[in-house]
Amino acid sequence: MDEQCDILMIGGGMAGLSAATALAAAGQRIIVLDKGRGPGGRMAARRAEIGGAQVGFDHGAQYFTARDAAFREAVAAWEAAGVAARWPAAGTDAWVGTPGMNACVKAMAEALDVRWGLRAERLERSGAVWRIATGDQSFTAATVLVAVPAEQAAVLLAEPAPELATLAGNVPSAPCWAVMAGFDARLPVAADTYRSDTGPVSWAARNSAKPGRGGVETWVIHASPARSRELIDLPKHEVAEILLADFFAATGAAPAVPQHLDAHRWLYALPQALRGEGARFDAALRIGITGDYLHSPRVEGAWLSGRALAQAVLQERVASTS
Ligand SMILES: Cc1cc2nc3c(=O)[nH]c(=O)nc-3n(C[C@H](O)[C@H](O)[C@H](O)COP(=O)(O)OP(=O)(O)OC[C@H]3O[C@@H](n4cnc5c(N)ncnc54)[C@H](O)[C@@H]3O)c2cc1C
Repeated sequence: MDEQCDILMIGGGMAGLSAATALAAAGQRIIVLDKGRGPGGRMAARRAEIGGAQVGFDHGAQYFTARDAAFREAVAAWEAAGVAARWPAAGTDAWVGTPGMNACVKAMAEALDVRWGLRAERLERSGAVWRIATGDQSFTAATVLVAVPAEQAAVLLAEPAPELATLAGNVPSAPCWAVMAGFDARLPVAADTYRSDTGPVSWAARNSAKPGRGGVETWVIHASPARSRELIDLPKHEVAEILLADFFAATGAAPAVPQHLDAHRWLYALPQALRGEGARFDAALRIGITGDYLHSPRVEGAWLSGRALAQAVLQERVASTS
């Protein structure tokens, strides 16, 4: 039998959980589905064992800024809860999740009804309600909200909401190969961060230097969009070796043999933002979309987009009951 709720959110990354938090606070019974095994989305953290020690890598978003007043309030609450801290190495207004980048998303998820490991495969309008099918389970909801990357939203919405699908489909994303490397000694790289707008490595960070990490020397290396596209279909172990060599060449550090080396391919890493849209809610069909691609390609943009969608849903609800 289908499980019922007022609102079903598909996608439990920063945008989906920002919207779900605001909607749950307004008394809506909301269930969030996420295909991932645990919290993070593109703010993911991965664990590895290196020389007997448990080590974490932030292989997606590296840090975030907080410029909007409402987002600054949310970040202050995360800081007070011990799940976010400033990281001056990345800038005066740079924050990270602690002990991993996914900590803020995890804290938000813990206050909500989130079902991990469930991928929404099909959305259908059945009378006045939505029916959402995953591989194992189905849900019905009066309202459905979609908080997945633009390309994936376009596929999911193609039949049930073609207008929203077109909107999402018009925002292509750049890919990013991320390398995670651990070493048995500190690398001779003075700064904890490296950036380049022109080279094959766009960003590298000494992950172990972020607040709340420490221990084994670890680095996360991100390839530029151009380099990521060149390497897009290579096996990850080859990509890891190539980008590690690019990193040593870029920083001028003498190459060292890593104790741990892995890579992850983000196919939809950074969308080309549609500024000003924020979020979109179709009040007639009772379906909406949110995500960084509707605001700006950043953690803060995802949070603000989620909040904008929650406001649109709640305003419409007030209008329809008055
Ligand atoms: C390599 C990389 C580096 C970055 N660096 C930075 C940075 O330094 N600073 C910064 O501010 N931002 C950075 N970003 C961007 C930032 O991570 C994103 O803007 C933000 O996390 C997007 O949140 P979101 O909720 O819109 O999407 P996501 O985090 O992608 O969340 C979408 C969620 O939907 C789930 N999902 C997808 N399809 C389905 C389905 N069919 N059913 C159920 N669940 C589904 C996914 O599992 C995921 O959890 C980076 C991103 C990447 C990939």
